[in-house]
Amino acid sequence: MANKINPFEMVLEQLDKAAKIMKLDPNMHRVLKFPTRTLEVSIPIKMDDGSIQIFKGYRCQYNDARGPTKGGIRYHPDVTRDEVVALAAWMTWKCAVVNLPYGGGKGGVICDPKKLSLGELERLTRRYAADIISFIGPERDIPAPDVYTNEQIMAWIMDTYSMYKGYAVPGVVTGKPISLGGSVGRNTATARGCVYVIEEAAKRMGLKLQGAKAVIQGFGNAGSYAAFFLQDVGCKIIAVSDSKGGIYSKKGIDPRKVNEHKRNTKSVINFKGTKNITNEELLTTPCDILVPAALENVITKDNANQINTKIIGEAANGPTTPEADEILHKKGILVLPDILANAGGVTVSYFEWVQDINAFFWDEDRVNSELKKVMMKATNDVYNMSKKYNVDMRMGAMILALERVAEATRIRGIFP
Ligand code: NAD
Repeated sequence: MANKINPFEMVLEQLDKAAKIMKLDPNMHRVLKFPTRTLEVSIPIKMDDGSIQIFKGYRCQYNDARGPTKGGIRYHPDVTRDEVVALAAWMTWKCAVVNLPYGGGKGGVICDPKKLSLGELERLTRRYAADIISFIGPERDIPAPDVYTNEQIMAWIMDTYSMYKGYAVPGVVTGKPISLGGSVGRNTATARGCVYVIEEAAKRMGLKLQGAKAVIQGFGNAGSYAAFFLQDVGCKIIAVSDSKGGIYSKKGIDPRKVNEHKRNTKSVINFKGTKNITNEELLTTPCDILVPAALENVITKDNANQINTKIIGEAANGPTTPEADEILHKKGILVLPDILANAGGVTVSYFEWVQDINAFFWDEDRVNSELKKVMMKATNDVYNMSKKYNVDMRMGAMILALERVAEATRIRGIFP
């Protein structure tokens, strides 16, 4: 389900729409349409067979009006410059929605990490880090993992940066191993944040979570923990899925047992006491809460009319197309947008950076309670903005983010 729309055109479309509704100053609107800087690098790597291959990499700092830029690094064959810039813009809005003192950035390398040996992956990572080294830093731009990058890759970037500086700089990246200054609670943060947002929204709608039926697409980091935490607050998980397909049970599914089953069989399908279903069937299963936690563009104009739920909590980035959004809004389904619902991940990344800079580490209770405060406040801010402008929560979140970025830009002034 690859996105055929140019992602940066989508960013501009959303920006124009929000700017019109909030009557954003046209000068400010013009400023926000352009990425501040984008670095393109050619990365030569000695391959295991003795040849030298050149990989293309990018790092974009979209907007740093509110602070250093923050955003992941993606390793994927389909990475493009426009995609990196678009993702950096979305990070700018996301950090502003949850009011982190950050701007937005993103990086990417065009490669297929599944075809690289561990040695090649390390050399690629270290050379990419060296090529962008003067661009990044704890006070400048702080990368993190994204698609097909992980904590080992963050450790190599941290080490490369530290070698260049001559001393250890853990705060240059987040999503690091705990032993290098990573934060406890980071791996569960996206799901936990998403469930806090769902809880807050359910309260406002008068929806009781005790016994509410929940469906989750994707059973990876975000989806599996979302299933656990929804169960913990009383929801009945009736369907979950992964790339191989889904499972359904009217009586409810224990997601922790499904996790064990997935560990043994590599998929959630064929779990005892459940019926196998397709991912398409899963999305249209009647429920109270639907959590897309896999891919982008899965809720489209073709299936939006069949979606039968009260709340959609977007743990994934970009799961709903703009046409589908309109249909869902008309049907009265509350969509909790990605830039709010999955911002728990970047929030705990921020906590990791704060802990690294202070060299003082928190316990998991503190991480989770600080996360809860941030997510509840952001949900209320977005809700109030959507009421003020009589728009859906996605537009409310966009307007909130643009107000905050525009305000910072206005107060700083345009240099010189
Ligand atoms: P992951 O790789 O851990 O899990 C992805 C899951 O989706 C896997 O279970 C996979 O089998 C499943 N999947 C893949 N293709 C599918 C398909 N066609 N149909 C159904 N399921 C499919 O990834 P993740 O970290 O959980 O990320 C999932 C989504 O959440 C992504 O959109 C990501 O950008 C977003 N997100 C994640 C984080 C985070 O901290 N992990 C933060 C913000 C946003």
